[in-house]
Amino acid sequence: MYYTTMEMIAGMYDRYGRQYAFRAEDVTSFDTWRKRTKERLLEILGFEKFVRTEPEAAVLRTERYDGFEKRMMTIRTEPGVTCVFDLFVPEIMNGTAVIHPHGHGGGRVKTAGTQQEIRDALDGKTEPFFALRMVKRGYVVACPDTRGAGERREPHAQGDSEQQRRGNSHDELLKLGVCFGIAPIGWMVWDLMRLGDWLLAQDGIGHLICAGMSGGGQQSLYLAALDERIEAVMISGYFYGFKNALLEQPENCACNYAPHLYETVDMGDIGAMIAPRPFYIESGRNDPLNGSRGIENVTEQVAITAGAYALFGAQDKLIHRIHEGGHVFVAEDVPEFFDRWRMK
Ligand SMILES: [Zn+2]
Repeated sequence: MYYTTMEMIAGMYDRYGRQYAFRAEDVTSFDTWRKRTKERLLEILGFEKFVRTEPEAAVLRTERYDGFEKRMMTIRTEPGVTCVFDLFVPEIMNGTAVIHPHGHGGGRVKTAGTQQEIRDALDGKTEPFFALRMVKRGYVVACPDTRGAGERREPHAQGDSEQQRRGNSHDELLKLGVCFGIAPIGWMVWDLMRLGDWLLAQDGIGHLICAGMSGGGQQSLYLAALDERIEAVMISGYFYGFKNALLEQPENCACNYAPHLYETVDMGDIGAMIAPRPFYIESGRNDPLNGSRGIENVTEQVAITAGAYALFGAQDKLIHRIHEGGHVFVAEDVPEFFDRWRMK
């Protein structure tokens, strides 16, 4: 016999949840709601304790390929904190940079690939992955290691075994951050914002967009909601009601959780903050992370977000594609989606 607490916690969601739920009748009340909600999210994620610093960008290594370069780089995002990232730079840039964070399992090699993976794709032996598809269209693509992942793992999670490379330090960051009122997703999004500062300061880059799968979708969602410089966004495998997904599946990565998050918003409210910017959501009908109610727990959240787009008469800028697979990144027509936004 087990006497657990989960049912009581789920009841807490019903009692205290979504105090900043999206509710607005027009664009003016939307702006007021978005501003208030943004302030509260920045507060609960710990932004007031983050410290700006000079980026001190450095290029550690460059690989040259036909039509583009891949630079391994670092910037400082807080005093004493280094973000390492791979930057795909096309020979002919189209003026837009894509921030492309990876998911919870592993580091930036998941989004930026290895030298061999890039060569195989260029030789036509494998399908090109997203970063390659974008750099070939003239986008600069930045693939950072998320704080606590890849080469940014804390000592306990470091190592080269397959299991260690798939791991991260988000448990540790949550435990330590929470004692200062900081959530790991706050640190992660802060790093992406500083990467955005640096990208926009480079010659030939005037626009920022972001795209990601799973934990990369999570970071892209929060980044776009909290940073209006992100002009268009694509997320995959990360758009479902908190209660039926993350709350009832606490085995998810620790960086999904933040103090007071459930009291504040649901996922569809965070999505609503992005309106009316172009927003592409991809879901797998058979993704177990959607929660026990499946795709219904996703479409309900998309409907909340769609309410905000309707206020602007911008329903066509919100796309929800459902594929029949599980927790996988398909992104079939996403480069075209971004091209359409760029040509507007
Ligand atoms: Zn994580």
